[in-house]
Amino acid sequence: MFACAPGPTAAQAARYDLIIRGGRVIDPSVRLDAIRDVAIAGGRIAAVEPGITSAAAETIDARGKLVVPGLIDIHTHAGRSADGPVLMLKDGVTGWIDAGSQGADHIADVIAIARSAAQPGRVLINIGRAGILPDGDTMDLRRADVAAARAAIAANREMIAGVKARLSRDVAGENDYEVLRRAQEVASSFGLPVMIHMGQTISPIPRLFDLLKRGDIVTHMFAPPPNSIIDDSGHILPAVLAARRRGVWFDVANGQTGHLRWDTVEAIMKTGFWPDTFSTDWNTNSPQTGVVDFPNCMSKLLGYGMTVSEAIARATINPSRIFPVFNDRGTLNVGAPADVTLLELRQGTFEFVDNFKNTITGRERLFPSATVLAGKRIART
Ligand SMILES: [Zn+2]
Repeated sequence: MFACAPGPTAAQAARYDLIIRGGRVIDPSVRLDAIRDVAIAGGRIAAVEPGITSAAAETIDARGKLVVPGLIDIHTHAGRSADGPVLMLKDGVTGWIDAGSQGADHIADVIAIARSAAQPGRVLINIGRAGILPDGDTMDLRRADVAAARAAIAANREMIAGVKARLSRDVAGENDYEVLRRAQEVASSFGLPVMIHMGQTISPIPRLFDLLKRGDIVTHMFAPPPNSIIDDSGHILPAVLAARRRGVWFDVANGQTGHLRWDTVEAIMKTGFWPDTFSTDWNTNSPQTGVVDFPNCMSKLLGYGMTVSEAIARATINPSRIFPVFNDRGTLNVGAPADVTLLELRQGTFEFVDNFKNTITGRERLFPSATVLAGKRIART
């Protein structure tokens, strides 16, 4: 005979895989900044509430830490080495874009790394078919090969998220305008965005920005003159304001050479023309450069009036809107993929270096503390 078993209690029914307890949850997607527990079940966010009493298979004590949506870095070179995605995941990066490391000739190399990465990664194809070259990707205009790029995208539609056009004088020389025109020709046939690497171009900004459409991305937005986004008297160029109004995104891309100089950063921040997204321009040597890691790059504008919450928005919800692969991420909404980054916000004296060896001193810096990807804690070792 069968005994009448008691029904499951509420606590048993709500048993979770993981609860991140007691952290300061900052989720700009819902304007939340408060002490909360984050419960995860089946690889998705199940609850964000104070004092969740249910049991969980695993618990992370997040007291004293920030708990934020998994960080999304839209300008990296993670696809250059198999270690890239692994190292970035430990820095809290749960989604990445490889921004033009390769063109049509070797796109399979970066795609293979994106496919094997634990976190979602996608690639921008360099309009220069040989990818990044020390002598300049498109100094020889024949390398900006529309047919080759189109064929590569057609064969890898699900992994190629856009087209990268590097336009600096040491990359494209006098070809900058025509290189961008060709990049748009490729992108428009697939409805994809173009990301331009601006700064130190031969063509003036208004001429180049004329070619940008809604959804495109300007990376290295803090690049110093010549051809910065700001004029000598401290005004953002009208063509730049117009581009933002029609839906062009502006991205930081810290990088190592020529992209970031504190005086230009200060002048641009003063105008209120703030970036939509942070990004690192990450390479495997980044821990030894001024980049260090994504949370370090996110800390650099705290001294220019940006709040921690505003910085987190630019590494979570904002980048999630740019590329479809991330559209359901960048948030801790119930039902979203359970990608969560734990950060430490330390107070003290921190030096931040630009790309010209100038340093500024900050009073706060974010450090990576732990990463949860699809509901599973990543070992940091
Ligand atoms: Zn780059």
